[in-house]
Amino acid sequence: MKENSGKKGKVYLIGAGPGDPGLLTLRGKSVLEKADVVVYDRLVSPAILGFCNPKARMVDVGKMPTHHKVKQSEINKLLVQFAEEYPEGVIARLKGGDPFVFGRGGEEALELVAADVEFEVVPGITSAISVPAYAGIPVSHRGIATSFHIITGHERSDERTLAGSLQTRDERACQVFEPAEMSCASDRLSLDFEAIARCPGTLIFLMGIANMDFIARRLMECGKDPKTPLAFIEKGTTPYQRTVMATLQTAGETIIRENVTAPAITIMGGVVELGKTLAWKKNLPLSGKRLVVTRAAKQASGISARLTALGAEVIETPMIETKDVFPGLPGNLPANFDDLKNFDLLAFTSTNGVESFFKQLLASGRDIRELAGKKIASVGKITEKKLLEYGIRCDYVPEDHTGEGLGMLLRSILDERTLVNSLQTRDESGVALSGTRSAESKDLLDESRILLLQGNLADDTLLKFLPKATRWVVYETLPVTELPEWKREAVASADAIVFASTSAVENFVQISRLSSLVSRLSFCIGRMTEAAAKSHGFETVTSDETTMDSLVKKIVEYYT
Ligand code: SAH
Repeated sequence: MKENSGKKGKVYLIGAGPGDPGLLTLRGKSVLEKADVVVYDRLVSPAILGFCNPKARMVDVGKMPTHHKVKQSEINKLLVQFAEEYPEGVIARLKGGDPFVFGRGGEEALELVAADVEFEVVPGITSAISVPAYAGIPVSHRGIATSFHIITGHERSDERTLAGSLQTRDERACQVFEPAEMSCASDRLSLDFEAIARCPGTLIFLMGIANMDFIARRLMECGKDPKTPLAFIEKGTTPYQRTVMATLQTAGETIIRENVTAPAITIMGGVVELGKTLAWKKNLPLSGKRLVVTRAAKQASGISARLTALGAEVIETPMIETKDVFPGLPGNLPANFDDLKNFDLLAFTSTNGVESFFKQLLASGRDIRELAGKKIASVGKITEKKLLEYGIRCDYVPEDHTGEGLGMLLRSILDERTLVNSLQTRDESGVALSGTRSAESKDLLDESRILLLQGNLADDTLLKFLPKATRWVVYETLPVTELPEWKREAVASADAIVFASTSAVENFVQISRLSSLVSRLSFCIGRMTEAAAKSHGFETVTSDETTMDSLVKKIVEYYT
């Protein structure tokens, strides 16, 4: 190893898969979550970009502000440059499908080796196999195809020419994937058509739509049966997936008639017929719709998952973000944790609170032994589970998982009242017990020795029940002030925005500052939200009741 190699950042060549965010690998996701820089291609889905560390520098090499695609040689240099700029950093190079299947990942890796930059390859699910699978077409099938061949329908022989031709083509559809122009297909394709025509297996062409008329004709000239079944699968695995069937003979005219656009793959051979029986991907009520969901908190609201399950592509835009507080300021947790000795019971009311508390406890040089002998209370199951990750079991969890429930539970212990059935305590093995534990109450005689660990926006519910308790603010919730560029683009191209509160409308308008949103469709929960959205120029469709169920129902009704 050369002298400084350890100091440079490490580059991960990551395959994002074909589009469906569920097809990103676990390894890919975990690298994205800790990345300092993400260099991504056009058409990597916003949902996958949403997995990236929110603090990461996001670099779109599919389109730069000048609207020119960044040349491959420049991308190679950029990766080396970031590795130098971020010593010990994590640089994620995120590409569609698999990085080594027509993804130029090999070229990038060679450049990294030459510059002595450490790298790792995180393979992705290639579109070549997964896109047919989503159309119900197995690439091999006993008795039909014993091999399959993945072929480029476009060769990038001259970068300069290529970049030039790119600028003239439709940005959104063609930028990364379909650079060739039909007229000069014969100049650019040096495929051995005779050999390919003789292949008995399934033929899969990537990047080939623009050249397909030429490819099909050459294959027929070389003896391939004009009746060979063929399918074009457009935007496979995404909510916009479409399959168009043809034969080798009708390939060119079908592309024009059906307006097949990139990204699409072409698959040829007997297996295509199976797609007629095996096409399993249902057209869902919200297929093909891109919806922005404004969320009040970091936690999943449930509505996104439901809209996704109904086929929509959901762009989540949280309106607030949480940050650690500065320790030692009045009201905040202290910089040194000596004061913990003054408390016998610690109450956590959110997972954020748990994470921030332990992060700062560790940062102060201490660890969980500071909590030895103390009772621990949690507002609900999710917070309880988070505490378990830190090796801590809860002594008190209210059954209804609310601040009020926790307040009542602790109050009743303090007052040595008989505990009502609505509470739970835990026995030593962690098994939930419901009902009275009067022995517990003796441990907790002193209300002033209760410590509440909460965010700055926590309301006073707990303090109302426990006026002598102490509260430390362990994290802060701040409004998000701007959207990252990739999200602005996704939002700008959305079909509709979903608003679940008036404040979501106000915040969203503030942070997005997108004039393109004027007269955009919005789905609103209740009349108040509707009025707020109208006042900002949105068209509105409003749920009958102020519930998420009613809102989701309304969205489905609107589109079906
Ligand atoms: N590395 C990628 C391929 C890059 S070449 C992979 O392994 O999948 C780009 C070509 O891939 C496109 O022109 C198209 O032919 C194909 N492609 C990528 N994603 C696709 C998708 N979601 N649906 C259909 N074709 C896709």
